[in-house]
Amino acid sequence: MTYDDQNIFAKILRGEIPCKKIYEDKYILSFYDINPQKKVHALVIPKGRYIDLDDFSVNASSDEIVGLLKGINLVAKKLKISAGIGKGYRTLANISEHGGQEVPHLHFHIFGGEIVGKMVE
Ligand code: AMP
Repeated sequence: MTYDDQNIFAKILRGEIPCKKIYEDKYILSFYDINPQKKVHALVIPKGRYIDLDDFSVNASSDEIVGLLKGINLVAKKLKISAGIGKGYRTLANISEHGGQEVPHLHFHIFGGEIVGKMVE
C-alpha cells in the first residue's frame, strides 16, 4: 500500500482543511477528534507521510519516533490528563483492516477526562 496524499489528515497537515489544534511542533500535530468518543478525545499525528504504526516503525527516523512518543505525553500534559497532572488516559492506534483504521495516516487517539471503560468492546 502506498501513502494516499488525499487522506483527510494529509489535507489537515497541508492546511487545506481546518482542525481544532491542540499542539504542534517539528514532529507532530495534535487536534481534537471531530467525533469525540469520550469527554476528551484528541488525535496525535506525525508530520511525516506514514500510513500506520507498522510503516512508521520501519521507515521513520529515530528523531521522528522519539518526537511522536514524547508528543503524546506533551499533549496529555497540555490537556491536563497525564498521570502526573490529571487522572490518566488511554492512547491507541488502529492499524489497517482488522484494527479498524479509517484514515490511512498514522494517528494515536487520546481518550480521557473520565474513566474510559473496557479496553476492547
Ligand atoms: P481511525 O478509525 O483510527 O482511523 O480513526 C479516525 C478518526 O479520525 C475518527 O475518530 C474520526 O472521528 C476522526 N476524524 C475524521 N475526520 C476528522 C477531521 N476532519 N478532524 C478531526 N478528526 C477527524
